[in-house]
Amino acid sequence: MKIKLLPSTIDAEGRASPEQRLSCFVVDGRVAIDGGSIAVGLSDGERSSVRDVVVTHPHMDHIATLPIYVDDLFGSLEEPVRVHATAEVCELLTRDVFNGTVYPPFQDFDNGRTRVMEFVPFRAGEEFRVAHLALKAVPVSHIVPTVGLVFTDGERTVAFSSDTSATEEFWHVVNREPRVDALLIEASFPNALSKLADASGHLTPDALGRELTKLAHEDIDILAVHLKPSFRQRLIEELEALGVARLSAMVPGREYVW
Ligand SMILES: [Zn+2]
Ligand SMILES: [Zn+2]
Repeated sequence: MKIKLLPSTIDAEGRASPEQRLSCFVVDGRVAIDGGSIAVGLSDGERSSVRDVVVTHPHMDHIATLPIYVDDLFGSLEEPVRVHATAEVCELLTRDVFNGTVYPPFQDFDNGRTRVMEFVPFRAGEEFRVAHLALKAVPVSHIVPTVGLVFTDGERTVAFSSDTSATEEFWHVVNREPRVDALLIEASFPNALSKLADASGHLTPDALGRELTKLAHEDIDILAVHLKPSFRQRLIEELEALGVARLSAMVPGREYVW
């Protein structure tokens, strides 16, 4: 399985810059998990093949350019862009984003050949399929309805915490998997800002270290994501200080293969 965290910004030479401002992970060039940078970070090839976007929660950094993506593709779509999310999140996106004010209600539009966007609700706790992946969604501890995900292509399995503070059910689901190849887990704020992290439903490196004591799988790659850009270097140092094997900060634009 190949996973790439799309870049949020580019440097002066046009290369992906290391800071992560938006969340969008592309799995095997086909499925997007969250859509923060989907309209700006995909290659042309990915743009023609990504028609499924799994949205973990409606925060702007996870959906910012999703409306622009559908807009871009409007005239050329032969099948809808399918937005997979819990029914609650689908309703929030309809109410707050695709509402005719912030952006058009693309869920009601077609281009003469196909509907351009479709909400496909899933239920937390029940397995669902998106393209070649089987996924499980688990509610996590954030300040809006949010799910973490465990997904497999039948051979490799990856767990993604999405945005969360300390949480429990996610670890039960992860630990029930016979095999997990990689864990993507958030680390948003440095240790000194633990109160802010708690209040906003996020982890610090120390809190991430405590979460990892709930993980039963050993020897897996652990990639820290969602590092707030202004604290990135400090967060990397605090993550290193945990002394956890195979833990590193995920680099935007790099393809990871398991
Ligand atoms: Zn969030
Ligand atoms: Zn976020």
